[in-house]
Amino acid sequence: MTNILISGGGVAGPALAFWLRRHGFNPTVVERAPALRTGGYKIDVRGAALEVVDRMGLREEVARNGTDMRIARFVDATGRQLATMSAQLFGGREGDDVEIMRGDLARILHDATKDDVEYLFDDSVTALEETADGVRVTFENGPPRTFDLVVGADGLHSTVRALAFGAESSYVHDLGHYISICTVPNHLDLDRTEVMHPAPGRSAGMYATARTADAKAMFLFAAPPLPYDRRDLAGQRRLLAEVFAGQGWEVPRLLDATAEAPDFYFDSISQVHMDRWSSGRVVLVGDAAYGPSPASGQGTSLALVGAYVLAGSLAASGGDHRAAFAAYEDDLRHFVQENQKLAAANLKGMVLKSAAQIRFQMFLLRLMPHLPGRNGMIRRVTEPIRKAATAITLKDYGRASSSAS
Ligand SMILES: Cc1cc2nc3c(=O)[nH]c(=O)nc-3n(C[C@H](O)[C@H](O)[C@H](O)COP(=O)(O)OP(=O)(O)OC[C@H]3O[C@@H](n4cnc5c(N)ncnc54)[C@H](O)[C@@H]3O)c2cc1C
Repeated sequence: MTNILISGGGVAGPALAFWLRRHGFNPTVVERAPALRTGGYKIDVRGAALEVVDRMGLREEVARNGTDMRIARFVDATGRQLATMSAQLFGGREGDDVEIMRGDLARILHDATKDDVEYLFDDSVTALEETADGVRVTFENGPPRTFDLVVGADGLHSTVRALAFGAESSYVHDLGHYISICTVPNHLDLDRTEVMHPAPGRSAGMYATARTADAKAMFLFAAPPLPYDRRDLAGQRRLLAEVFAGQGWEVPRLLDATAEAPDFYFDSISQVHMDRWSSGRVVLVGDAAYGPSPASGQGTSLALVGAYVLAGSLAASGGDHRAAFAAYEDDLRHFVQENQKLAAANLKGMVLKSAAQIRFQMFLLRLMPHLPGRNGMIRRVTEPIRKAATAITLKDYGRASSSAS
């Protein structure tokens, strides 16, 4: 049985472990966090990714854990309502598409794998040395071990990618925006509602889903590349406070609340572009290989589909990991490109440049329910997302046992 190390226990890692077990491999997941990371924001699962979840037998559980969001409201600096829209349209969802908290999905995937997959928490890969018949892996805490293959499923700032492919600056491309999200008290008593306060070049918001007592605050802004330390959370909070200084609505209170947040998150909105997703016995999956950015709304779906295709390609290759990695890239690359394309267009609508643009967008939203052509307008929003989300035909890889060379 092939021993495969997966670095990263987010979405791609556990999903890959699930499918590798199904195909008879022996995966081990190493996760840097001391325990499963169940915090996070809401994410969408749609199109081919829903089919993957269905094939895992988890579709009902995922749907049951959905956010059940109802409405998105836009307000001005005084809190006055400017426009509203359905949460479904706000998220570009249709039909069976599911919105779920990232932490709930991570928990469901972990529960589905924890009994027959080895999880090593509180550790990280520090060195990879390829030998004739495997990869010798050194860890921060645990003793060195040798695996047949190593998979980097460790997100946008992947350690495995840095070790096997080089500096992240060659692959991670900033889309000119930053995002910050954290848990805050639900002081507005929001119920399955999202409130957004758009301002030129920046947007702040707050939402509460059906499944949490707390709320999430979200800040989004356009900026050229900013020098900040990824490990210095206090410095990131200061930066955020500077960018949103003087903003109205609930912004000052939300900024204050970031100081107490247990899960403060701040990062650039970036995409990962690589010519190859594998090097020797090391391969990448999910955000580490082809993160489309939060603005695409498709990061989780790419991770789920990528994990399915990678595991299936390994099973179908009859033990030849080179052939498997080539098939994985061939089958997935078009799907990845179509989904990465969504981000630029979405960002334009998420952060508007001027007060005039905001007024116009709010006017259109107020008008939309009364327009005879509203269904066509709605389709123009949802159709590109639907097309990208279904731009792959999933193979049936069967459940054959395999071993890699
Ligand atoms: C603010 C925000 C909003 C988003 N909104 C959406 C959305 O609406 N729809 C959508 O589809 N996607 C969305 N995404 C993207 C989505 O969360 C990711 O694209 C998706 O989770 C990809 O999964 P992943 O497993 O590749 O990476 P991640 O979920 O980032 O998981 C990586 C894991 O690796 C671990 N790790 C990191 N380094 C190491 C290391 N050295 N050793 C061991 N473990 C390590 C991390 O702790 C983490 O658990 C959003 C992302 C953000 C940040």
